[in-house]
Amino acid sequence: MAMNAAKAAVPSPYTPKLERFADATRLMLAGRDPGAYHGFVNPPVYHGSTVLSPTTHDLLNRTQPYIYGRRGTPTSDALEHALCELEGGAGAVLCPSGLSACTLALLTCLSPGDHLLMTANVYGPVRHACDGVLRRMGIDTTYYDPLVGADLAPLIRPRTRAIYVESPGSYTFEVQDVATLANVAHAHGLTVIADNSWATPLFYRPHDHGVDLSIQAGTKYLVGHSDAMLGTVSANAASWPALKQLHGDLGLCVGPDDMYLALRGLRTLGVRLRQHQDNAHAVASWLRQQPQVNGVLYPAFDDCPGHALWKRDFKGASGLFSVILHAAPDTALAAMLDPLELVGLGYSWGGFESLAVPFDLAEHRIASHWPAGSIGVRLHIGLEDPADLIADLAAGLQRFSAACPAREDAATC
Ligand SMILES: *Cc1c(COP(=O)(O)O)cnc(C)c1O
Repeated sequence: MAMNAAKAAVPSPYTPKLERFADATRLMLAGRDPGAYHGFVNPPVYHGSTVLSPTTHDLLNRTQPYIYGRRGTPTSDALEHALCELEGGAGAVLCPSGLSACTLALLTCLSPGDHLLMTANVYGPVRHACDGVLRRMGIDTTYYDPLVGADLAPLIRPRTRAIYVESPGSYTFEVQDVATLANVAHAHGLTVIADNSWATPLFYRPHDHGVDLSIQAGTKYLVGHSDAMLGTVSANAASWPALKQLHGDLGLCVGPDDMYLALRGLRTLGVRLRQHQDNAHAVASWLRQQPQVNGVLYPAFDDCPGHALWKRDFKGASGLFSVILHAAPDTALAAMLDPLELVGLGYSWGGFESLAVPFDLAEHRIASHWPAGSIGVRLHIGLEDPADLIADLAAGLQRFSAACPAREDAATC
């Protein structure tokens, strides 16, 4: 069988070494081998394309561990091995952005004529890829309710090949029952893909819940400092050969300095995430009490859709959540956000700094849960002192109220 041949050709590149250690310890050791680098604590950054061979025999028989820059360097190996340790997968590959990791995972298991089940709350550019390049290749997508659980089965068609989860969704924060979805999916021979950027493998390990291909937008928490673009896909043993081969065929690779920034970011991922969690909890708890706020969507809170699943499956909550504000004119939103001193206006998240992005609730399936005109603002809570962030946001909410027309109904604005 073709699949078995592929398996033999692409064995798992890595044997986990650090399983006996706790996560905090593994983060310090993963991907490091000082003995191989003259004792230097960190792996060197190899800038390179060509690798010279000592003889024609070595060149033609590829006897050396490295053949060509695109196909791997000691720097990419260090990061991939670190990811294998953290994800618990059979192998991992690096991509030039989180989005390219998402599309690589999809193309790994889909062919023309196939059908894909995609969570309706998926990161927007992935939806764009499904409706664009995948459709052009003759791949059909059905968007399913992220809370569908065991009722997934009726959506599976004879040509359904994959299900994609993003848990929680990065604007609407529904937590999915991934283990149940994976059970149903595997019973029908589907591949299960998960975008786990919100939790990182420290707060949730997708492979432990039946996921075959686990994606990280490494740009976010892995790199952690808003200074590089990177994506990763980790595969279990069943999906590794196909992932590795397509990654090679597409010629995907990452610049050495960006790989190094991810390796460096990894060492502090544990302490950063813990602080993001504490700060987000403080700010979200305060926001919830404010008269301008209809609700806060944060998986650690019991009114977030799927909170019970978060409690069952996750080890923590990161720094990203959404706040739903009362209906107000557009000028009130700008009056609130534009003068903020500490919370920047910008896409992305996962860096050390706090960020806000307003979004249109009507474009998201949760719209019906909120009074008409409610406004969504996604917040990433950074590593600033939470009391300073609360003061900044409190002044913002006051400007928001001041910009609303006076109303009898005190519950609005
Ligand atoms: C940002 C993001 C991506 C894409 O990552 P890039 O590195 O920006 O391409 C994918 N999934 C989620 C959930 C994201 O938030």
